[in-house]
Amino acid sequence: MKVLVVDHPLVTHKLTVLRDKSTNSQVFRQLVEELVTLLSYEATRDVKTHPVEIETPVAKTKGAILSTPTPVVVPILRAGLGMLEGMMRVLPSADVGFLGMVRDEKTLQASTYANRLPEDLTGRQCYLLDPMLATGGTLVAAMNYLIERGAEEITAICLLAAPEGIKIVEQAFANSKFPITIVTGALDERLNEHGYIVPGLGDAGDRLYGVV
Ligand code: URA
Repeated sequence: MKVLVVDHPLVTHKLTVLRDKSTNSQVFRQLVEELVTLLSYEATRDVKTHPVEIETPVAKTKGAILSTPTPVVVPILRAGLGMLEGMMRVLPSADVGFLGMVRDEKTLQASTYANRLPEDLTGRQCYLLDPMLATGGTLVAAMNYLIERGAEEITAICLLAAPEGIKIVEQAFANSKFPITIVTGALDERLNEHGYIVPGLGDAGDRLYGVV
């Protein structure tokens, strides 16, 4: 498994404002979109392309365009939805599938409550969007879901990750050769006893959409 912490001053700046508890939902949503656009630029470094010949107004030349089938972007509801627009700006031709997962606040176990995904993901590169890689349970469950449907490779894009969560994903796929990449804006210190990332930014879903 590859882990890429995107080290860029714009990412750090936007994350710092995002973490600040005085940042309101409107600014928070805007910043998440901007951050995801930056992270997805790195996350799509290995997106599949194929060579083509084209003609510019001046001369014939060789280039490369995105291959088909197109990648599939899968936001994990609810908070992952806030990352979708920023990702689609970079990859507008991608298909989008939705995965609704909820974490039991006591057991911290993730379960699926909704899914709207192509049944067959054979040969598809998949980009999972989940802002907070905390305990790792949600991400592992979502990855297994995509792998069962034939996904070719999975890249998870997270705004923040905790070392504990990275370890859980690593352990879950330690005996598998399945290609997994995690791209994150920062690797934080740890999880607290409630499974929140420290220092983190609080509950990403609540900060995006309000407390439910
Ligand atoms: N989910 C969140 O929204 N925040 C955390 O810190 C951990 C999980």
